[in-house]
Amino acid sequence: MLLSLRKTQSKADVEPLLTLARELGYRTRFLDAGRHVLELVREDGSVGAPSDRSRIEELAVVKQVLDASDAPELTEARGATQPTVVRVGWAVFGGGQVSLIAGPCAVEELEDLVLVAHAVKRAGATLLRGGAFKPRTSPHSFQGLGREGLARLVAAREEVGLEFVTEVLDPRDVPLVADAADMLQVGSRSMSNAPLLREVGESGRPVLLKRGLAATVRELLLAAEYVLATGNPNVVLCERGVRGFDGVTRNLLDVGAVAHLATATHLPVVVDPSHAAGRSELVAPLALAGLAAGADGLIVEVHPSPGRVHSDGAQALSPSAFEELARDVRALARLRGKTLAVPRPEVPPVYEVEETAP
Ligand code: PEP
Ligand code: MN
Repeated sequence: MLLSLRKTQSKADVEPLLTLARELGYRTRFLDAGRHVLELVREDGSVGAPSDRSRIEELAVVKQVLDASDAPELTEARGATQPTVVRVGWAVFGGGQVSLIAGPCAVEELEDLVLVAHAVKRAGATLLRGGAFKPRTSPHSFQGLGREGLARLVAAREEVGLEFVTEVLDPRDVPLVADAADMLQVGSRSMSNAPLLREVGESGRPVLLKRGLAATVRELLLAAEYVLATGNPNVVLCERGVRGFDGVTRNLLDVGAVAHLATATHLPVVVDPSHAAGRSELVAPLALAGLAAGADGLIVEVHPSPGRVHSDGAQALSPSAFEELARDVRALARLRGKTLAVPRPEVPPVYEVEETAP
C-alpha cells in the first residue's frame, strides 16, 4: 500500500500511523526525502485484511491511498487468469462470456411480460428483467405490483423457460424476493444501503449491483465489498450512467469506468444503456459503446407497447429493435474475442400419441 501524507505533518502526527501499520503487520518505508510518500509492505508478503486500508485511511495524517488500482481488497483484480464468472440459469457473465438481460422496466400485464420474455429469449437474451418493487423518485409514481409482480415473473419463467433478475428494495423483503428470483438487483438508489447489501449477500443469490446516481467507482466497489464480505462471490457490477450536467441523455454513461473496471476488478461488469439514454433511439449506440469498453453483458428495457406502461416507456426498445441490437452484440462480442451466452434450448412439446388398435 502506498500512502500520500499531508504536507503539514510533524513527527508526532506520523507516529500513530507508523505504530498502527506495524501493529497490522506492515513494514514501513518513506520513499521521498520530504517524508510525504510512505510505502507499507506486509512483513510476511500476504495481502492483509480488507479492513486495514480503511483503518489507515481514517488517520488525519493520511491524505490519500495511492494504489495502482483503486479497488478495495475483495474486489481487486487477481490477474487476467482469475476473473469471477457469474452464472444465472443460462446466463454467464465474465471469463470471455457476454450475456443479455432484457425485459420491461416494471412488471405490469402478465400477457405483455410473457410476450416480451418470449421475444427477448428468441433474440438471444439469457435473463429476463422486470421490477416488482420499484424504486421511484416520487412517492406518487407507480411503485410496482410487489408480491403480485413476483408471482407474474415466476409464471413467465415457467411459461418461457427464462430465469429472471428483479430488484429488492427493503432488507426485510430479501427472503421473499430471493425465494422467487434467480438473481437479486440492488438498484442505484440503494447502492449504499449497507443492511440491504449484507442481506442480499447472505441470501446466497447472485447479485446485480447498480452504480449509485452520483457514486464514485470506488464507492461502487466498496458496496460490492459488502456483499463479498458475506462470503457470496457472485456479484455483477452495473454501470447505468451517473448524474451529468447536460440533459441530452437521462444520465451520463461512464464508459471510462467500464474500461477501468475491466482491469481493476475480477468482478464482471454489465452496462445498462436504457437508464443512461432515457430515449429508445440512443439505447443501441450506448449499449455497443459499453461492450466496446469491455462490458460482460447488457441489461436492456424492452416493451411491445411502451405507450401504455407506468414507468420508463420512453427508453424501452421494441422487441424487433432488441433483436437487431442482439445481432450487433453478437458480432461485436466476437470482435472482442468474447462469445454471447445462448438461451436454454426450446424443448419441443411432447404430444400424446393415441394408441390405435392394429
Ligand atoms: C431499473 O433497473 O429499473 C432501475 C430502477 O434502475 P436504476 O436503479 O439504475 O435507476
Ligand atoms: Mn427502469
